[in-house]
Amino acid sequence: MQREVASIMKPAGLRFDWHELNAPRGEESFADLVVVHFRGSCDMKSPLRFSEPVPLNESPLAALASTHVSNGRVLPFSQVECDRLRSYISPQVKGGATETERDLLLGRAMGRVLAHELYHILASTQKHANGGIARSFHTREELVGRNFALDPKDAATLHDLKWRALLAGEAKTPEISALH
Ligand SMILES: [Zn+2]
Repeated sequence: MQREVASIMKPAGLRFDWHELNAPRGEESFADLVVVHFRGSCDMKSPLRFSEPVPLNESPLAALASTHVSNGRVLPFSQVECDRLRSYISPQVKGGATETERDLLLGRAMGRVLAHELYHILASTQKHANGGIARSFHTREELVGRNFALDPKDAATLHDLKWRALLAGEAKTPEISALH
């Protein structure tokens, strides 16, 4: 997941450091912080506690991950619905794959839905676009397939935002905390 987020966001010049929210730590402060809560079991071998029907081939990402919005402002708090995501991608992941391979595909899919939420946070927008991670729909194939990149337009938008923030004296190097 971390590798996927890094590779998707690299063209925008964004770098992420990851910290477990409940890890012991001293006095640390971060200029830019995003908190991500992963709900359910984020590995392919755990049995699904429910069978979430996701009949569509194209699923609205809102069912798989979300980001808090308050008074029209996008807040840096997201959650990824691991059980729903596992259920959604499972038709794509079954068939001869080893446990490690299936977990790798889940990690890739988690990275892609999280990159979508990070786009909302970093671009400070609730809007969606027609291509790349800013689309509101991703097929199972798009979530686990080999190649997935930022639309060049999205990369340019994020890149511009980063430089604007830097020029304003505020480094945009978001930190991500994972809370399980
Ligand atoms: Zn969205």
